[in-house]
Amino acid sequence: MDISSILQGGYQHPLSRSWQTRSALTKSMFMYPIFITDDPNAKVEIPSLPGQCRWGVNQLEAFLGPLVKKGLRSVILFGVPLNCPKDARGSPADDPTGPVILAIKKIRELFPDIYIACDVCLCEYTDHGHCGFLHEDGTINTAPSVERIAEVAVNYAKAGAHCVAPSDMMDGRIKAIKRGLIDASLGNKCTLMSYSAKFASALYGPFRDAAGSAPSFGNRKCYQLPPTAKGLGRRAIQRDVVEGADIIMVKPALPYLDIIADAAELAPDHPIACYQVSGEFAMVHAGARAGVYDLRTMAFESVESMVRAGATIILSYFTPEFLNWLEA
Ligand SMILES: [Zn+2]
Repeated sequence: MDISSILQGGYQHPLSRSWQTRSALTKSMFMYPIFITDDPNAKVEIPSLPGQCRWGVNQLEAFLGPLVKKGLRSVILFGVPLNCPKDARGSPADDPTGPVILAIKKIRELFPDIYIACDVCLCEYTDHGHCGFLHEDGTINTAPSVERIAEVAVNYAKAGAHCVAPSDMMDGRIKAIKRGLIDASLGNKCTLMSYSAKFASALYGPFRDAAGSAPSFGNRKCYQLPPTAKGLGRRAIQRDVVEGADIIMVKPALPYLDIIADAAELAPDHPIACYQVSGEFAMVHAGARAGVYDLRTMAFESVESMVRAGATIILSYFTPEFLNWLEA
């Protein structure tokens, strides 16, 4: 037998196996997405997202306290307004008495070391359920959409968010938000994490159940990227780098590992985030329930593949589990 090379010699010991990891998974890589609703005492399970709830601000201490003790470092907040009147401009998004702004203040007071990111979009707050302002024919009206999204982002930063993360995919919003933060003297106090390459995915279903944000007509395909559009993904990443994004995000994660790798190549000096979205999380759970694989093994394989592709931050509903599973 003529074998020129035996790779197995390089990873036959547990320690030499561990040396094969270029970038190890750590607790601090995880950012936990949480849903904040406007009933302050709410703790309502979301059936399509196993173990996840909509939380009221009065529940945050009991909910987050044990996770903070286990090493939770960051959260990303999604507002779920259920009791307020929605309008065309998404006014409840930055209502000072709305769930997101109250939650930012509450978490800062309760857990001063937790890094608070806020998703910024209008779709949870508009009566039509779209992410921006609309023309009469139902198409997106970009300029006022961007202006309003920047206003909301600045108001979250003023309330104490450490990071604002626009998910709307309106062209030009990164530049507008960065300008808004600088003009409000918050440029050096708030990170701008761009959902740069956000694809129109079939994997957002459970999130829409959770956030109540399905559009009332049409869909979001005119602003979310077509799943086949590698080139658009790359252009969006490069554009957002130039416009001042501090972190580049790819969403969803597992079916878009090549785009994560592209982001790491195109923005080698930026942290790269990816969002293991609701449908990915539900899929890992469903497969485990069906006996296809062990939940923990598959959860590890899924997020380790994201890190291998180049991600340095992972938004995941598995965050509480990884705080138990990881040592540091
Ligand atoms: Zn949206």
